[in-house]
Formats: sequence, structure tokens, C-alpha cells
Amino acid sequence: MVKVLKIGGSSLGNKRRVRNVADIIANSWSEGVILAVIVSAVGGITDQLLNCAHTAENNGELAKEKINKIRRKHFDVFAEELKEETTLDQVNRLLDELKDLLKGVSLVRECSPRTLDLVLSFGERLSAFLMTALLRHKGLNAEYVDARDLVITNSNHGNARVLKDETYNWIQYKINKPKIYVITGFIGSNKDGITTTIGRGGSDYTAALFAAALDSESIEIWTDVDGFMSADPRMVKEAFVLPQVSYEEAMEMSFFGAKVIHPQTLVPAIAKNIPVYIKNSFSAKMPGTLISPEIGRASCRERV
Ligand code: ADP
Ligand code: ASP
Ligand code: MG
Repeated sequence: MVKVLKIGGSSLGNKRRVRNVADIIANSWSEGVILAVIVSAVGGITDQLLNCAHTAENNGELAKEKINKIRRKHFDVFAEELKEETTLDQVNRLLDELKDLLKGVSLVRECSPRTLDLVLSFGERLSAFLMTALLRHKGLNAEYVDARDLVITNSNHGNARVLKDETYNWIQYKINKPKIYVITGFIGSNKDGITTTIGRGGSDYTAALFAAALDSESIEIWTDVDGFMSADPRMVKEAFVLPQVSYEEAMEMSFFGAKVIHPQTLVPAIAKNIPVYIKNSFSAKMPGTLISPEIGRASCRERV
């Protein structure tokens, strides 16, 4: 059996949240299951990396300070895991690589879209690597997967289009054992192996690609709200959770700005008829929202 979970950055903002998520992953695992866990960057880190890259174009020293802030955030959130030497070494190596890259940006005083994608990739590479270490500490059989080896895209940096057939072949080749694979969301690479990103919020889409390639029984999107809501709860106080919505309704809402899922997410899910659940990582017992072929308007009307 294959299951796919996606953990959003909003669920990785601090130590307590990260531990919560590790419990959710542990509870989803059972003997014989292939569990693909797609992980976003720690909350706010993608924006900070973006800011670092642009700062480096004008002020290399300030960019270095900003990298140190990113470093401190990871050391704060994953404090326990970073006590282990091999994990610490690997994270330091990644952060040094990021520093060198931004040094290069500050020398040429320009960050091209291609370089920016490489800079942004560090967010998901750090979080997925550290989440793997956390799960291993819990005694789980977890493997870190860099999606750049599997998700093949065109070269439209910043918003690359995924080449479905190649990507599905790589995913099926790599993800084939009953264990927990912790996979970087959002990033891929072009045919020459150059790092690309698939659009802001794109980890949801990464999860759907893995689910479709592996004929997963479901996709669970773990986020910071109780489900798909009638409106953005940050804007509309009266917004309520929709227990069930159709693929069509969910797609429409996400295209019109419901950030809770990336607009492209449902395309691979619909092709394989895979149900998508939106769940709150802060209250895992809440039922959340089921997005499936069935029409959910009735559940909407009942509440109005
Ligand atoms: P994650 O980091 O988990 O991917 P996002 O910030 O991308 O989380 O998406 C979750 C946010 O989407 C919620 O905090 C909420 O403010 C916003 N949102 C916008 N529209 C909706 C909606 N219709 N239903 C639920 N959440 C929504
Ligand atoms: N980390 C990326 C972003 O902030 C991708 C994602 O979170 O889905 O856009
Ligand atoms: Mg998101």
C-alpha cells in the first residue's frame, strides 16, 4: 500500500509543531506501507532565502547575517537532531554551500532566475533532511530523497513545468520499498540536472505527482487550518470548514486564490481518481476536508 502525506511550512514553524508532525508521520506508518512524505521548507524560510538572494546583489555582508538567521532558525527548530555529529556536519555543509553561492551573487551583483532557484532549493533540502534525522531518532526507517533526482522539468526557472512521463518513471523506479521516504517539495531539475522550482506553494503539487505516479490510495495535505474553508479564515471571521468538496469546486477555489492548495495540485489526483484530504497538523483528530469526485455542494448549503 502507498500513502502520500504533504507537510506544509506552516506546520514546521517551531520545535513543538515539528514534533507534532513527526508523530503524525509515525502514526501513518505501518508494516508494509510505502509512505512518501513531501516536506516544504520551514515556515518563512523560502521568503527569507529570496530576501537573502536579493540582498546579496547589493550587500554581501548583510546577506551573510541573513543566512545566519536562517541557520539559527533551523538550529532552534531541530535542536535535538543537530546534536548528532553526522547530521550537524551535513547541515553545516549545506549552509556553507549556500554562503558560497551568495558570495558569488554578491561578486557578480546579480542573481539570475537560475541561481535564485538554486538558492531557494536550500529551504526544502534542509527541512527534509532534518525531518529524516528526526524520524530516524524515533526509530523509524526513513530515507531522505532530493526530488531534483526525480522531478524533471523544463527550464522555466521560478515556475518550471513538470515533464510528467520522465518524472513518473523516476518516481516509480526510486520509491519502491516499504519505508518512509522524506522528499523535498517544490524543487526539481531540468534535463541537464540544473535546479528548478515549480512555483510558490508548489510542494502540494509535488505531493500529487508522487501520489499519481505511485497510484497512492490518498493524499493528505497537512496544514495550519481545519480544512478547505468557505473563505480564507485570515480574511473572513465567519469562514467554516467544508467537510467535502468536489475536485471541480476545489480547483476553482484554488485558482481564485484559496492558498490552502496550489492550483495545479488536483490535476494529477483527478487523472488517477485519488482522494485528497486537507488536515490540520495542530489538531490531527479533526476530520478535515475530503476532496473527491463527488459533489460537495450539499454540505455547503446545509451550513448556510
Ligand atoms: P502550508 O504552509 O501548509 O502550505 P499555506 O499558508 O500555503 O500553508 O496555506 C494555508 C493557508 O491558506 C491558511 O492558513 C489560510 O489562511 C489560507 N487560505 C486561503 N483560503 C483558504 C480556504 N478557502 N480554506 C482554507 N485556508 C485558506
Ligand atoms: N517552500 C515553498 C514556498 O514557500 C513551497 C511550498 O511551501 O509549498 O513557496
Ligand atoms: Mg502552501
